[in-house]
Amino acid sequence: MRLTPPIARRSILPWSLAALATVPMLLHAQTPTRGAAPSPGERLRAMVAERYAGDSAFATVAFLDQFVRWPGNRGFDASIDHIAARLEAAGYVPESRAAAGARLTYRVERYPMAAPAWEPLSATLSIVGEDSPVLDFATNRNMLATNSFGTPAGGITAELVDAGGGTAAELDAANVRGKVVMADVGVSRLFTEAVVRRGAVGVLGYALPAYLQPERNRTSIQFGGVARDTSARAWGIALSFAARERLRRALAGATARGGAPVRVQVRADVRWTSPAVERAVIAEVRGARSPEERFVFSAHVQEPGANDNASGVGAQVEMARVAAALVRDGAVSPDRTLTFLWGLEIRSTERYLTQDTVRAAGVQWGLSLDMVGEDTEKTGGTFLIEKMPDPSAIWTRGEEKHSEWGGRPLTKAEMTPHYFNDFVLHRALEQAATNGWVVRTNPFEGGSDHTPFLRAKKPGLLFWHFTDQFYHTDGDRIDKVSPAELRNVGITALASALLLTTATTPTALALVGELERAALARIETERRLSAAALRAGGDRALERDILETWRSWYDEALGSYAGLEIGGTSGEVQRAIAGARQSLREATDQALRSLP
Ligand SMILES: [Zn+2]
Repeated sequence: MRLTPPIARRSILPWSLAALATVPMLLHAQTPTRGAAPSPGERLRAMVAERYAGDSAFATVAFLDQFVRWPGNRGFDASIDHIAARLEAAGYVPESRAAAGARLTYRVERYPMAAPAWEPLSATLSIVGEDSPVLDFATNRNMLATNSFGTPAGGITAELVDAGGGTAAELDAANVRGKVVMADVGVSRLFTEAVVRRGAVGVLGYALPAYLQPERNRTSIQFGGVARDTSARAWGIALSFAARERLRRALAGATARGGAPVRVQVRADVRWTSPAVERAVIAEVRGARSPEERFVFSAHVQEPGANDNASGVGAQVEMARVAAALVRDGAVSPDRTLTFLWGLEIRSTERYLTQDTVRAAGVQWGLSLDMVGEDTEKTGGTFLIEKMPDPSAIWTRGEEKHSEWGGRPLTKAEMTPHYFNDFVLHRALEQAATNGWVVRTNPFEGGSDHTPFLRAKKPGLLFWHFTDQFYHTDGDRIDKVSPAELRNVGITALASALLLTTATTPTALALVGELERAALARIETERRLSAAALRAGGDRALERDILETWRSWYDEALGSYAGLEIGGTSGEVQRAIAGARQSLREATDQALRSLP
């Protein structure tokens, strides 16, 4: 998504030119220009930036990185305790001990789990007759699929068979009962087909997507899971590229020698905790005037990765510390409540939005912090803001591009017009303007804690990074995390929330103007793309529909700024919104008339 720098149209602080050139969405965003009034969020951004320490966020990431964190296991619980301890150190008081009206509180919620908690302890995969193991948990902590059972102390030794692509026909032909089965298919599906259905003793699955560059990251293993099967009590192992190669070489060698089949030995030791309890931490900076109105952050704790998602946990812990310091110092007093949620991805956020309908009604915004610390020199990719559904997810063209994680085209019925996309992008650009940080956006794709907000008809978006070549692999460790990146993301996220939770009429007016400019820039972009499409023989009705859909999306997004001011919309803001809508209408009509 490389963009020709839009600089021609306006002057920008010189040293940020390079950074801006890599920011595709700039087309639609007005970065602060020299001598102009500071951008609406700049004052708060600077206040947060003064206090936000990337190293402090990084310390939490490093703590969590020690553990393979799954709900109810010791690593997950130690992470929850760590978060609670850092909150107390920052001045948050346990709700149970808090005085009435206390502004900084937190609680740890406990939910009994239906299934036991799982934790890998050790594992090896070895070829009988060869000295060094093919895989060892000590160097590949993702090798054991979640919910695998341990082996007897001495391990299991059995014949290895290769079932190719793992199709039913290949599995039947391989006669897998009582054997260890390898195949180029995900460990979960192979386990069901080979162990549960055909009586294999265990499976070795290989299914690394190309964007993980397995031929380069030869020892990376992406974590996976198998169904908890108390009758088979078997295990699944996910293979790295190098492990798969070595096993296939051994099989080929045995065939070439026409000798005995290859036998492998697997040792696995796991810990089941039962009964298990899933815990979540919720901290709040209570709003001074409208405490029932909330901006909710969510960062998931589970999964073994440093970037996914110890980074979100750490960035958010430091955000909570800075928010507490700002309130305590009297520098900022949010009128609405800031809520910080750490828990199990999707489930904790969904529960927060459904278990209390009165509370849910007051939730105004949701932001998921998930994969926010990438050292992109090492991981590749960039910081991404995944937008709420806008027309770029229907017609993904021009500078708009889906990530390699992937997204499907959306329909008009799935659109959620709101100012939140452009609002947060501008806050990120305010931060980028200070240090050349690379900021990009992608059309809606899903798959993280922003989705429960959208399902609840709340504005919700995601801060993440992609493509990360270590995504969900055991290469995703602390050495791939950048304190500077954590800081950029943390500042942007907290400054965004503080601006919305302290919004005054002047702020609302400035934001309406900011969004109007973004809307007009978008119409101009789409006009040029439509003109080019028509010159190339495109469909006139379609191009008109695209322009009109963007206009109506931004028309409603402008309207969504009604209600931003605490205590109700002022006449000034209503007039500003009406004026902006009018200029949008005129610009769109002009664009439609200008189409060739
Ligand atoms: Zn994640």
